[in-house]
Amino acid sequence: MFGIYLHFPFCIRRCKYCDFITYAGKDELMADYAASLISELRIQRRQLPSLPSQVDTVFFGGGTPSLMRSDWVESVLNCIRGEFGLAPDTEITLEANPGTLSPALTNKLREAGVNRLSIGVQSFFERDLDLLGRIHNRSQAIEAIQTAREAGFCNLSLDLMFGIPGQSLADWQANLEQALALNVDHLSLYSLILEPGTQLFNDVRDGKLEVASEELGADMYELALDTLAAEGYGHYEISNWSRGEEFEARHNKIYWKNQPYLGVGAGAHSCINDLRVANTASIEQYIERLLKASPQNASAFPAAVETIELDAYTEQQETMMMGMRLTREGVLESAFQERFGVSIYQVFPNELKRITARGLAKWRDFPDGPHLVLTRRGILLGNQVFQEFV
Ligand code: SF4
Repeated sequence: MFGIYLHFPFCIRRCKYCDFITYAGKDELMADYAASLISELRIQRRQLPSLPSQVDTVFFGGGTPSLMRSDWVESVLNCIRGEFGLAPDTEITLEANPGTLSPALTNKLREAGVNRLSIGVQSFFERDLDLLGRIHNRSQAIEAIQTAREAGFCNLSLDLMFGIPGQSLADWQANLEQALALNVDHLSLYSLILEPGTQLFNDVRDGKLEVASEELGADMYELALDTLAAEGYGHYEISNWSRGEEFEARHNKIYWKNQPYLGVGAGAHSCINDLRVANTASIEQYIERLLKASPQNASAFPAAVETIELDAYTEQQETMMMGMRLTREGVLESAFQERFGVSIYQVFPNELKRITARGLAKWRDFPDGPHLVLTRRGILLGNQVFQEFV
């Protein structure tokens, strides 16, 4: 599997909890930025001849990619189709903010080839949306999902957040029930993280808001586990559920399986050819570098500010750390052995002993052989397992 991630670091305004690479008030740079994305893709196609011959997943992330004009999205997809080739069933996801999704845009995105929308709802409560600084309200969130269905999107994902200051267990249950009533295909549920430097972090630090307790956060997560299982949603990754395997996020599974991907745009990361590459986070610098570069003689990563060569042990650690997040399939021993020429037992004997003795992970037999997977206790204490492989 091979995927391309495109970062669109523009937002109408910054949410109060957000520390992503994104900017508000730079709309005048959007057109040049979209052209630069195409330029970076063309350069990489020419300068990295060993790239896979077709793309399995494309992901427009942000920022707010639903601020892109649909013809820009179409041009980017045409470029990927022409330069790389798209697999017949390519998953093409675009992250959408409900405050920006008009019926006209939704239709045009579908026509442009986007076949999956990941809608950042976060909560159906106005109080939470205000507190988080989101630009949308409850009815826009519901309308966005209904509009996407009407436009023909058969694969819809929704993000919700728990542990929001003031959110009760009953509020969280109401959010889950509302999402279920909308019959979405995929759910990503994240605990609110207070990132230093954000307004929400400062508000909590200054005593203006009280953060949810760890116990309440754990209760909310367990409520989601039980509620969604009862409704037939498969829990396939620590924070992700879907209505069947066909709706699992194929692009994100590339990250979790530590497979190759190109990251294009300001602040994007690539992981390819045993290299991890980070692009400049500055939109201006990104555009400037791409405008100067030519496909014939530019370096393969013209916007890079950091390139790290990954040794085999680092790749093995990352394969375990990310793969253990996959709650259903975990890490397949034979796939690890095939990729690295050694078994998980040989590389991580002590780590394996510790996590299995503590009941955090176990071997489970599948038709293709044993997989190391988290137990329910391991799912609740996932960080303790992931840290074993850091
Ligand atoms: S919409 Fe997303 S990327 Fe933009 S500011 Fe809000 S959380 Fe950050």
